[in-house]
Amino acid sequence: MTAAAPTCPECSSEYTYEMGALLVCSMCAHEWSPTATAADDEPADRVIRDSVGNVLTDGDTVTVVKDLKVKGSSTSIKVGTKVRNIRLVDGVGDHDIDCKVDGFGPMQLKSSVVKKA
Ligand SMILES: [Zn+2]
Repeated sequence: MTAAAPTCPECSSEYTYEMGALLVCSMCAHEWSPTATAADDEPADRVIRDSVGNVLTDGDTVTVVKDLKVKGSSTSIKVGTKVRNIRLVDGVGDHDIDCKVDGFGPMQLKSSVVKKA
């Protein structure tokens, strides 16, 4: 496979040529954008949403929407607990928020249990 001659996604013909930003197949006249095709293979920027669908970003303040048991602690994080200055991470399991919870210290949370404040 050579990168120099992209094949037609419709008929797999190698007789393709560039026309501006598009690639055109001279066999079936199919036109397509090579950049759009390449982008399909790339995972989009990971978007992390809270429990109601708001997009979360680094530095956001969120509110915990359900009681959370904390490993190694007899108390749990209560509903409504505010968590400031979150950091989005690719954490363990579904944990995608790195933060520090008052009274509990640094930990990772799941975006599904918080709501943007
Ligand atoms: Zn074609």
